[in-house]
Amino acid sequence: MRQRIAVVGAGPGGLAFARVLHRHGHPVTVYERDPGPHARPPGGTLDLHEDMGQWALDRAGVLAGFQARSRSEGQAMRILAEDGTVLRDWPPRPGDPQHPEIDRGDLRDLLLGPLDVQWGRTVTEVVPSAGSPVRVRTADGGEETYDLVVGADGGWSRVRPALSPATPRYTGVRYAETSLDDVDARHPDLARLIGDGSMAVYGVNKALVAQRNSGGHVKVYAQFRAPLERRMEPEDAREELLALFDGWADPLLDLLRHGDVFTHRALHVLPVPHTWAHVPGVTLLGDAAHLMPPLGAGANLALLEGAELAETVLAAEPGRLDEAVAAFEERMGARAARWAAFTAAGLDRIVSPDPADAVAFFDELQSPEQVR
Ligand SMILES: Cc1cc2nc3c(=O)[nH]c(=O)nc-3n(C[C@H](O)[C@H](O)[C@H](O)COP(=O)(O)OP(=O)(O)OC[C@H]3O[C@@H](n4cnc5c(N)ncnc54)[C@H](O)[C@@H]3O)c2cc1C
Repeated sequence: MRQRIAVVGAGPGGLAFARVLHRHGHPVTVYERDPGPHARPPGGTLDLHEDMGQWALDRAGVLAGFQARSRSEGQAMRILAEDGTVLRDWPPRPGDPQHPEIDRGDLRDLLLGPLDVQWGRTVTEVVPSAGSPVRVRTADGGEETYDLVVGADGGWSRVRPALSPATPRYTGVRYAETSLDDVDARHPDLARLIGDGSMAVYGVNKALVAQRNSGGHVKVYAQFRAPLERRMEPEDAREELLALFDGWADPLLDLLRHGDVFTHRALHVLPVPHTWAHVPGVTLLGDAAHLMPPLGAGANLALLEGAELAETVLAAEPGRLDEAVAAFEERMGARAARWAAFTAAGLDRIVSPDPADAVAFFDELQSPEQVR
């Protein structure tokens, strides 16, 4: 008899999991809190590593779609000094398959394809109980049971309490995010400044990063150290950021002057390593399992784990699904701990008292020793 499977969260991890199962004809229920796929802005661009995110898309049968929509030239990166001097300029790498960029919205649409997601269904609680199916409760009063429930519901997971008491802790770093549209036509000087991929400037305990998405859309991230209590109201954000980056070259400040709405996030992380005693019928993947600083690994890991777990489910011998899931958790935990340690050290170096160390960090990345 087929296992009854549910995944909570239609982010990269949950969708990769569901899509691989769907490809092999295995039914899966996908619960998603958002009322629809376009309910909120999808976020910025993601670079998908050949042996992580792209591997997962291959397992899901959508690698060709990724190749058609991704931007290998988006791998270009330059680092400027506060006065606008170019310190590093790594050129675009057309045709290089290692880390092409894709807009997050394009990735979501690619993975969604034929999936039947239950939009607007917020999971409030997951209740395992020995020897019985796992109960999933939703905010609309629903309750359903499954043989396996996968928490792919992000850093503030509602599934995680069924397995682990861990909660995210603040890193000390805040992100304020804004966007510019149609940059080539409306801000050609800024378009040249940013180039084909990313442009970053590292100061003392703060950084300004601009990343090109497709269609002339640019995301700008101001990163800085601040106490968690320090709120920045959206209407004051532009002036507060211009004060924070006062003295930096004018074209750099133009990224803030011309940005549209500002949103704000406090970077949190889960403990490293984050492990738990296996609980039959429930598991986690992606940010729900190992929320870490955003240094190019989180979505890749979520995709990789989604595809791996789906293949684990498909290959499990009758009656041995839990054993297979427990083995998956061990592999995932060990790999994620290495990436979490790497990205935590990276965050400390790029938003640090020593801007030269941030540049050194990217010098090292350009001749990468992969962290796996
Ligand atoms: C600014 C920024 C830039 C980043 N850049 C990169 C990058 O370049 N490369 C990279 O690899 N990673 C990057 N990351 C990290 C990456 O975004 C995350 O690691 C990745 O999205 C995790 O995927 P996920 O599927 O685990 O969770 P999420 O993407 O968080 O998806 C979780 C889903 O679950 C839903 N959900 C939440 N709670 C519930 C609930 N109770 N019931 C139902 N549904 C629920 C949410 O609505 C969401 O759709 C970046 C992160 C940030 C913040």
